[in-house]
Amino acid sequence: MKYVFGIDLGGTTVKLGLFTVEGELLDKWEIVTRPENGGEHILPDIAAALQAKLEEKKIALDQVAGAGLGVPGAVLEDRYVKPCVNLNGWGGDVAGMLSEMCGFPVKAANDANVAALGEMWKGGGQGYENVVFVTLGTGVGGGIIINGKLLSGVHGAAGEIGHLKVRAYESEPCGCGKYGCLEQYASATGIVREANRRLTGLAIPSALRSLEKVTAKDVFNCAKEGDALALDVVNLFGNTLGRALANVSCVCDPDVFVIGGGVSAAGQIILDVVQEAFRAHAFPASEGTRFELAKLGNDAGIYGSAQLACS
Ligand code: ZN
Repeated sequence: MKYVFGIDLGGTTVKLGLFTVEGELLDKWEIVTRPENGGEHILPDIAAALQAKLEEKKIALDQVAGAGLGVPGAVLEDRYVKPCVNLNGWGGDVAGMLSEMCGFPVKAANDANVAALGEMWKGGGQGYENVVFVTLGTGVGGGIIINGKLLSGVHGAAGEIGHLKVRAYESEPCGCGKYGCLEQYASATGIVREANRRLTGLAIPSALRSLEKVTAKDVFNCAKEGDALALDVVNLFGNTLGRALANVSCVCDPDVFVIGGGVSAAGQIILDVVQEAFRAHAFPASEGTRFELAKLGNDAGIYGSAQLACS
C-alpha cells in the first residue's frame, strides 16, 4: 500500500490528511499555524506532524509516495512560494525544504488551485479532466485544470478569476489595488456591499431592512422568498459571474465549472442564476457547459494537495 499526505496551509490552521494514492481519506487532523518570525515554525511543525502520524500508523518512509502542500499565495514550478502577506512574508523553496525535512517528495501549489484538483479528483468535477473551479468566499478564487493538469501560469496567477475585470467604472478599489474586479461583486463581501448600496440608496421595502447586519446568506435567503431588493442583488451577482465565466470558457472551454466556497452554500439558486447568464453570453459551442456545486467543502484543499502529490 502506498500513501500520500495532503496539507492545506491556512492563516490560522494547517489541515492535514493521510490518503491512499487512490484517493481514499484514511485520517485527517489539524495543527495550529504559527506565523510569527516570518513563519519559521511552519515547515518544522508540519514535518513533525507528518512524522508523528507515520509512527502512529506504523507506516514506513518507503511507503509514502509524497506530500502536496496548498499555500495561501502564488507558487512557481510546484515549489517556490512568493512571500505570503498573511504569513508575515513566509515563502521561498518551501517544497524543497519540507521534502528535506520529511524524506519524501513534496510539491506545492496555490490553495485555490489545489482545491480545484481536489474537486476534480473526488468532488463536483469527478470524472472530468477539464475543470474550472470557482470559490466564492470573502474573496473570489479559482483554479483551472486542463487535461488533468493545473494551469498555474508564469507568474503563478493563472486561475485568478476573482480579478477578471467586469466593470469599467468602480469608485472603490479591489483588494488587489485595481478597480472593477469580479471579486468586488461576486464574493460574500461584494454581495453584502451591493445589498447595502441599495438599502441606503433606494426607498423600496425589503426584509433585509429589519436586520442589524446583512450577510450574503441573508441576501440569498430573502431572494428565495421573493424579496425584490434581494433578488436584484442576486441577479446582479448571477449576471456578473455568469458573464465572466462565459469569457473564461472562450479561453479554456472546460467540461464543467465547479462552484464552491461559503457563498455556494446557498445551493441551487447559485447554479440557476449563474447558468442562465452564462448561457446568454457564452460562445454558442460552449453553451452546454456543465455547472456543479463543489462537494468536498473544507476538505477540498487536503484532497487536492494529495492529488498533486500523486501526479
Ligand atoms: Zn482585483
